[in-house]
Amino acid sequence: MELSGEHKMIRKMVREFAEAEVKPLASEIDETAEFPWKTIEKMRELRLLGMPFDEKWGGGGTDTLGYTIGVEEISRVCAATGITMAAHTSLGVSPIYEFGNDKQKEKYLPDIVSGRKLAGFGLTEPNAGSDAGGTETTAVRKGDYYIVNGTKCFITNGSVAETFVITAMTDKQARTKGITALIVEKGMPGFRIGKKENKMGIRGSDTAELIFEDCEVPVENRLGEEGQGFKIFLHTLDGGRISIGAMALGIAQAALEASIKYARERKQFGRPIGKFGAIQAMIADMATDVEAARLLVYDVSIAKDKGEDIIRRAAMAKLFASEVAMRATKNAIQIHGGYGYMKEYEIERLYRDAKITVIGEGTSEIQRLVIARDLLGL
Ligand SMILES: Cc1cc2nc3c(=O)[nH]c(=O)nc-3n(C[C@H](O)[C@H](O)[C@H](O)COP(=O)(O)OP(=O)(O)OC[C@H]3O[C@@H](n4cnc5c(N)ncnc54)[C@H](O)[C@@H]3O)c2cc1C
Repeated sequence: MELSGEHKMIRKMVREFAEAEVKPLASEIDETAEFPWKTIEKMRELRLLGMPFDEKWGGGGTDTLGYTIGVEEISRVCAATGITMAAHTSLGVSPIYEFGNDKQKEKYLPDIVSGRKLAGFGLTEPNAGSDAGGTETTAVRKGDYYIVNGTKCFITNGSVAETFVITAMTDKQARTKGITALIVEKGMPGFRIGKKENKMGIRGSDTAELIFEDCEVPVENRLGEEGQGFKIFLHTLDGGRISIGAMALGIAQAALEASIKYARERKQFGRPIGKFGAIQAMIADMATDVEAARLLVYDVSIAKDKGEDIIRRAAMAKLFASEVAMRATKNAIQIHGGYGYMKEYEIERLYRDAKITVIGEGTSEIQRLVIARDLLGL
């Protein structure tokens, strides 16, 4: 796909930044699982934490495709930084940007769109993962407050963000129509951060529990009406899936580039391994996969800005790109042989990082469910 001059500029700018500032830390934050605050500060200065939002709120003013390219380029060098950016933007900021009233926007957007404060999205619970409509967190109205009780788990940016959108049940009888979205802030009485997760991949990203114990959330922090939370989170996940597709694409691209370089350099039986048909086939398949994933992810990015229905296409893009990332990173290790298995070569990190893309924001099984339901009309 031929990109416009503006999109080419975005790619060039983000790639230069990523190579210079993000890549040098990727291995270290994977090893130490330390959150890359310094990088986040630099991303804030470049408006990379609010790329698709209006400049009047401190955003980058790009379209969705520009943001997709941004997440792809950051993830190409460090998926942990990529998911931090994607979760903040697509999951933390987007619901307030799209569903907030004027007062909520004035209060929250300047800080989170500019990236002065990080944001997150609390949907998943210990007993409500794929079935996020089965939320057990409750919000009981008491005067001007909701009293919130429950636990959200695996929340990206959980311990580093200051503003979250969460879902809670306000009317159990109404089932999914009884779910309400609330904006919560760190420091609200009764809200604390629980366990910080030690993960297989994207180790430099922050994943933590959010615990609510009789937490008082002002009614004015309700996003939309009571009962609209299910609709809000499904819509938010459509956009989020594009960003996970972009992240997967970046990881797969990195695997492809490393494989081509290695296949040209590594010699066995007196010639570069890239001369062997088996290696060529893996590289050809990988490149074709990456190109097809890119078309799907870019296409749905453009469709989102046109206001088209993207439910099926976002699921397809996320499903395909994430499975491409898994195949590409697996074969990249194979091409690197024993060296690919060693931490020093950074290929094994791509493999570990890729795995989250087939789980987060809906597993591959759930994406297939979304696609099939849409096609079958059931
Ligand atoms: C690193 C990380 C970061 C995350 N960040 C966030 C975040 O910021 N915010 C947030 O809210 N959540 C977040 N999540 C949660 C993530 O979205 C869930 O883990 C995911 O949706 C799966 O839920 P689960 O883990 O409970 O698995 P389960 O739903 O228990 O699934 C277990 C298995 O059963 C399968 N399965 C379940 N239902 C069906 C079905 N109907 N048909 C076929 N197969 C099915 C699944 O595909 C999976 O293979 C994060 C998770 C991780 C690991």
